[in-house]
Amino acid sequence: MEKLIVPIEKNEYYDVTFEDLTHDGAGVAKVEGFPIFVPNGLIDEKAKIKITKVKKGYAFGRLVELYEESPFRVDAPCPIYKQCGGCQLQHLSYEGQLVAKQKQVQEVLTRIGHLKDIPVHPVLGMDNPWRYRNKAQVPVADREGALVAGFYQQRSHEIIDMEACLIQQEKNDEVVQKVKAVCEKYGVRAYDEKKHKGTIRHIMARYGVVTGEIMVVLITRTSELPYKNEIIKEITTLIPDVKSVVQNINPKRTNVIFGDETNVLWGEEYIYDSIGDIKFAISARSFYQVNPEQTKVLYDKALEYAGLTGEESVIDAYCGIGTISLFLAQKAKKVFGVEIVPEAIEDAKRNAELNGIENAEFAVGEAEVVIPQWKKEGNTADVIVVDPPRKGCDDALLQTIIEMKPKRVVYVSCNPATLARDLRVLEDGGFKTVEVQPVDMFPHTTHCEAVARIELKNE
Ligand code: SAH
Repeated sequence: MEKLIVPIEKNEYYDVTFEDLTHDGAGVAKVEGFPIFVPNGLIDEKAKIKITKVKKGYAFGRLVELYEESPFRVDAPCPIYKQCGGCQLQHLSYEGQLVAKQKQVQEVLTRIGHLKDIPVHPVLGMDNPWRYRNKAQVPVADREGALVAGFYQQRSHEIIDMEACLIQQEKNDEVVQKVKAVCEKYGVRAYDEKKHKGTIRHIMARYGVVTGEIMVVLITRTSELPYKNEIIKEITTLIPDVKSVVQNINPKRTNVIFGDETNVLWGEEYIYDSIGDIKFAISARSFYQVNPEQTKVLYDKALEYAGLTGEESVIDAYCGIGTISLFLAQKAKKVFGVEIVPEAIEDAKRNAELNGIENAEFAVGEAEVVIPQWKKEGNTADVIVVDPPRKGCDDALLQTIIEMKPKRVVYVSCNPATLARDLRVLEDGGFKTVEVQPVDMFPHTTHCEAVARIELKNE
């Protein structure tokens, strides 16, 4: 067997040009074809790097000197960008981020999906790509008698205090600061993960961007909370738009945020928000898209690609709380949603009722089990929409789609690599990918969302 030659050495310096960006935002350079990942490097930049670690097929390096800067390089506006790690692309202008994300989708379709000549449209980005997140989940710690609430410093368990997060709704920053101050005033101690002592673990704030309604969730180790009534009173006085104050109890030694028990301390169990014409009830534990403005853009695109006339029967696989299903139901004859989490299906049914939508039905189960069962029972669909988690669609589901032969498939993806893999399977099974539209749901991070329009080939 031919021995793989590693053309570089640890601690040595090399002059390189970055060709690509990894999924976590590092620059990719090559020395004699051997890939080196270098944090902070941007495409087309020329630099001197030092090799820090060599593995079998790749290496890591450190940026030593930039000879030529990318025209897209900017100073990250956030003062805690480097410590935090929540964003990975703030050193790339927003325009540059959109170009990079489009390129990433195009590249994986070719490399992983072996799909050629598929139009990948320019990424639909935000006019104002800041302050978009509607949910904050902030860990709390004790520091010299005071409370700090912020983020875990990269690769550590140290919590850094944070006053503002530039991708967070300002309202949420304000709520977290106020709740922290109230807890501090009443001497609530923060959870200490080493000693497994203390009370407050996380503060969560949810904001209905359209309705202005606010939910505060206190995630505590114990069910008792000292000065509970005083704390509630102050929170509801200081934050006039609060509609719901909830306590979630997590007594476990774990870095999972939520425990199993959730109690409403004050006000409603839900806050409301809308996307387009559809209203949603959101509880403390409900999944809800974190960037509602771009969610509307994404769902409008999915709806357009579904090509509905009002006569179609549609399956929405991986439907969550029924967000896409309810969008589709407005234009379809009937929609069947499938989702694995029972509470999400309860939310989906409630949301259908809330909007007076009667042509949507929801089932709990694995898409790859439930949909083949439907097929066995003789049910079919004209259009199938899938919106799977990062690992993509299960092969059993793809095979069922191929056998069901819907006229169209709409694939909403949060991971271009598995999208490309699954599109290849559908292509081999008699479908054609017509076009792909990336939508930027998470500006300044490397996450990349895309919708694909897929049609049954004429036999
Ligand atoms: N379409 C929804 C949710 C998409 S997230 C929205 O836009 O809001 C993906 C969803 O797939 C999650 O709700 C997750 O619980 C669900 N899921 C994961 N694996 C599944 C499976 N095998 N079958 C059905 N649903 C699954």
